[in-house]
Amino acid sequence: MKRWNGWGDPATTYPLPDSVLAYLRDNLGDLTAFPDAAMEDVLRAVPKSRLLPHPLVGTDAKSRLLHARGQSLPDWLALRSGRIPVFPDGVAQPVSEQQVCELIAYAQQNGIRLIPYGGGTSVVGHINPPASEAPVLTVDMGRMDHLLELDESSRLARFEAGVSGPALESQLAIRGYTLGHYPQSHECSTLGGWIAARSSGQQSYYYGRIEELFAGGRLETPLGRLELSHFPASAAGPDLKEVVLGSEGRLGIITQAQVRVRPKPSAEAFCGVFFPSWELGMAAVKSIAQQEAPVSMLRLSDPIETQTTLLLSGKSWIRLADRGLRRIGYGQRRCLLVFGATGTAADVRRARRTAKSVCRQYRGLFVGTVVGRAWQKNRFRGPYLRNTLWEQGVAVDTLETALPWKNAEAAARELPLAIQQAMQPHNDRVLVISHLSHVYRDGASLYVTYLFRCRREPEELLARWQAMKRAASLTIQRCGGTISHQHGVGVDHAPYLPAEKGPLGIAAIRNLCATFDPQGIMNPGKLLVEDRSKGTGTFFGLQACTGDLPNRAEK
Ligand SMILES: Cc1cc2nc3c(=O)[nH]c(=O)nc-3n(C[C@H](O)[C@H](O)[C@H](O)COP(=O)(O)OP(=O)(O)OC[C@H]3O[C@@H](n4cnc5c(N)ncnc54)[C@H](O)[C@@H]3O)c2cc1C
Repeated sequence: MKRWNGWGDPATTYPLPDSVLAYLRDNLGDLTAFPDAAMEDVLRAVPKSRLLPHPLVGTDAKSRLLHARGQSLPDWLALRSGRIPVFPDGVAQPVSEQQVCELIAYAQQNGIRLIPYGGGTSVVGHINPPASEAPVLTVDMGRMDHLLELDESSRLARFEAGVSGPALESQLAIRGYTLGHYPQSHECSTLGGWIAARSSGQQSYYYGRIEELFAGGRLETPLGRLELSHFPASAAGPDLKEVVLGSEGRLGIITQAQVRVRPKPSAEAFCGVFFPSWELGMAAVKSIAQQEAPVSMLRLSDPIETQTTLLLSGKSWIRLADRGLRRIGYGQRRCLLVFGATGTAADVRRARRTAKSVCRQYRGLFVGTVVGRAWQKNRFRGPYLRNTLWEQGVAVDTLETALPWKNAEAAARELPLAIQQAMQPHNDRVLVISHLSHVYRDGASLYVTYLFRCRREPEELLARWQAMKRAASLTIQRCGGTISHQHGVGVDHAPYLPAEKGPLGIAAIRNLCATFDPQGIMNPGKLLVEDRSKGTGTFFGLQACTGDLPNRAEK
């Protein structure tokens, strides 16, 4: 069971300590809760379906509402205000490849647009139905969730693509294996969605991003099946798996995927280290990455995120420890690193030793596993805070990029400034917190969370979000970063893709879509910007942040 207008299981809550609320009021001003719409009222507004009847297709208002939006800020605003301009005309939940093929044929014959749907956790408008003349059918893959084959000799598992994170891990765990792909959305997102949106797990430093885990599979397209055979490696021309990765539902529906699995690690630990400054912390994590220290994850919080993390713990002994830290010179600018070590007990000891010794060179103060255990406990609970914050009158959004080390410090400085400056004309404040979420030898991913006050009028809140999102996206591109390290393109990042891929690159992607889907029925309006002129807005039919984009490729 999922919340219809928020994150996750309705039975799970994440209350805010009073100290955090006070901190938010200090930073943002007085908070007023948003006037949420009631579900019954929103259901009454769902229009009549335009689909011709089909035995696999449901057209009831509730399932159309439950599949109408994902998890981006404009999605939340649409759901919470009840002002949802477009609903899918129907929802199908196939249980077999044959049914998927039947649905594609039904769409082709009747001029229907198809949206492949995994867990609906997209944060960039991936699964939103376009405002189109043609009816829209959402294909929810959630019932195709079985482990089909486990090849222990090759350590490959073949799953149906609609399997969610927990269902995938539990089917592997009883056989002693793991995939180890843990995006923070693990609870609700699916294997097909991870592949189609090029997802990255929290421990991808150890297990690999989805690109490294995805070994083969099947894509059902309007022109037939694309079979992606597994080879440990191949020099047989371009790798078509790369075409499916990040395809965002534009080429077809992934029905099966083969993934590289490992025996479950026997030991794991998450440890904390404080640094006196963000710059020293960054230098330390870069050194850990470049020395290829055998850690499994690294998360370096900036001073504001460090402060927020300590406040969120709500524990009195943390306040005492915090005072102690300040006394020994780890004051306002201190930063917290959480790193993980995974494998055998000996691997964990070795990773800890290496990471500790590198951190020490940068004045890192190792504080053992207490902070790391707290991170581990809340690693999938964090998104529930968004529900609580919204109810208290605080809107939250996140954005992310990856960029080379030489630009990382500048971007970490400039991104928060750009977001704050974009809020100034609105005479309002925004709290921007960041962390380095994934590190590589050649660069890092910077992840930014920004919190601002809800307004009573949804248009006002949307205008603020648009200004900040646009300013951040342009800054990311000016700093030489990718428009997304892990969230994908969807609708919200599509205007920025041409600057990253260049005209020829965009033409190649467009031609790929046309090759697999000549009628243009698959998830139109996502990835490529041109369909937006046909009316694909994220919210109230408004177009997001287009125009004035720098095009590095044209320089
Ligand atoms: C709280 C929260 C935390 C998050 N944390 C992370 C994180 O740590 N790392 C990360 O990478 N992302 C994260 N995300 C983003 C999101 O979870 C990922 O993009 C994820 O990969 C989406 O998976 P999904 O199954 O929910 O796909 P959906 O949102 O349903 O769909 C995403 C895209 O994939 C396509 N698609 C889905 N299934 C298929 C299929 N079977 N065949 C073809 N196309 C398909 C859809 O058409 C759509 O274009 C987070 C999101 C939230 C809300």
